[in-house]
Amino acid sequence: MSNTKRIIIVGGVAGGASAAARIRRLSEEAEITMFERGKNISFANCGMPYHIGGDIPNRDNLLVQTPEQMQKRYRIDVRTQCEVKSINRQTKTVTVENLVTHEQFTQNYDALILSPGAEPFIPPTNGVKSSRVLTLRSLEDMDRIKEAVDKSLNQQAVVVGAGYIGLEMTEALVKRGISVTLIELANQIFTPADAEMTAPLLEQLETNGVDLKLGTSITNISEINNSLELTLSNNEKVTAGYVIMSIGVKPEVNLARAAGLKIGSTGGIEVNENMQTNDPNIYAVGDAVEVPHLLNGNKVLLPLAGPANRQGRIAADNIFGRKSIYKSSQGTAICKIFDLAIAMTGLSEKNLKRLGKRYEKIYVHPASHASYYPGSSQITLKLLFDPENGKILGAQAVGADGVDKRLDVLAVAIRAGRTVSDLADQELCYAPPYGSAKDPVNYAGFVASNAISGDMPVCHVEQILSASENQYLLDVRSKAEFQAGTIPNAKNIPLDELRNRISELPKDKEALAFCQVGLRGYLACRIMQQNKIPCRNLTGGYKIYKYYTAANNP
Ligand code: FAD
Repeated sequence: MSNTKRIIIVGGVAGGASAAARIRRLSEEAEITMFERGKNISFANCGMPYHIGGDIPNRDNLLVQTPEQMQKRYRIDVRTQCEVKSINRQTKTVTVENLVTHEQFTQNYDALILSPGAEPFIPPTNGVKSSRVLTLRSLEDMDRIKEAVDKSLNQQAVVVGAGYIGLEMTEALVKRGISVTLIELANQIFTPADAEMTAPLLEQLETNGVDLKLGTSITNISEINNSLELTLSNNEKVTAGYVIMSIGVKPEVNLARAAGLKIGSTGGIEVNENMQTNDPNIYAVGDAVEVPHLLNGNKVLLPLAGPANRQGRIAADNIFGRKSIYKSSQGTAICKIFDLAIAMTGLSEKNLKRLGKRYEKIYVHPASHASYYPGSSQITLKLLFDPENGKILGAQAVGADGVDKRLDVLAVAIRAGRTVSDLADQELCYAPPYGSAKDPVNYAGFVASNAISGDMPVCHVEQILSASENQYLLDVRSKAEFQAGTIPNAKNIPLDELRNRISELPKDKEALAFCQVGLRGYLACRIMQQNKIPCRNLTGGYKIYKYYTAANNP
């Protein structure tokens, strides 16, 4: 028997194309066939909103590899517009339909890699099948949306779902001069992150004229006079030329399920750490599979391009006897919304609460680079950690600049099992145009370490809002800042007057101190602690109070 391996790959984009290229690098002998239902392979799906919005004017720039290039460079038999209809595990064959000729044929494999991705979730709303209700997954979808945009400049569009794709599409449409109503069922946008971290994004949407409707869904869609009339759950009616439906994706598992492959509790294909399904000759990767979460081992669906690409490579390695493992995902992701970016890694606070895990949190608002060098802007960074051992559990950041760099450092720290004191010790790049001598990551480490050591006991907006009669709110900002707006019932003693007015503070009640961002509150706490006055500092300061209240009463 020949040693040549016949490999079939289902799906020719992120996971599938990575697997194909890796296989060829490992074996000149392998016979590789890649079946792709669509017209294109290896296209930049993540770039599609930016083509619609005009940032990437040339459509061809989205074609990372064409079938011809893939054939020429990697000697891969690429069959586009060919859908794998079924898998026969006994005979190790797949049945394929050529979608142009409708011919069906079978082909056998020694190893099969499934990378079929995830499909947009479509709610069962009356009228949702209208051709004016569009989704964005393939280049053909993108072309349809672009055509609708090109034809209907100045029209109203509705985007349903304020997740990654919904927000990117909202920005793209606004950039094209379309007025957008953004409808989101949850009471916050960008639900992977915690609500208060999304408050600056609400401002961005408002500034750019987006009509955001939170806690709302569509109950009916009717086609009237070349446009759609949408009835919302609050009985409001909205007219739109078209609707972009982006309320999430679900793994495409029909093929796997019909072949008797195990589907996990999340709805994704079950795989082991080698990306192998319960059939040792069949591997599965990408958006279609469930993976363990780094921080608790729970199975999760995290449909992101990085994991899909890495898993494709890992499946290829294992087919060729290289023991390569995919350990876990941690949900490191970033999204641009007009002038801001929001990014996160690890567990969010709401996830930690849901899991009943012990955690503490701090917020800092440092400058993206030395504030005396032009162009710096503030980053709001939230760090979640275990208050007993300091282990970092999650991080989120929002800002105009430098958010990606900080979150990437924190993602690596989480993956390495580091603690907040390791962040304080971390040596990072610094010159004024790029950072600060105390980088935002160091700074978050200092603040979290102070919270753990008790040098700066922290309190949170939730505690400020439910302060008991044994506590009082102390605003240590300047008189002018206090007069411009403070937290109801707060007493004002500016930090620089605190030492002289310390006798005004009771020793039998706890001061919940706050300033604008948390630094003066910390200094005030140091003074009060050394004067035996019980106190805690509102981490993130008045700014976080404002974010919290804006996000909770949008
Ligand atoms: P896909 O890349 O979706 O590929 C699956 C392919 O399989 C599809 O082309 C499908 O046609 C084909 N297929 C399915 N079934 C069959 C069958 N039976 N026979 C033949 N072919 C089949 N992720 C990020 O990390 N960052 C981003 O910024 C980002 N932006 C995104 C923006 C958009 C608009 C979209 C849609 C996704 C974005 N993603 C982003 C997600 C990322 O693209 C996916 O996580 C990644 O592509 C998943 O790779 P995959 O191989 O599992 O699936």
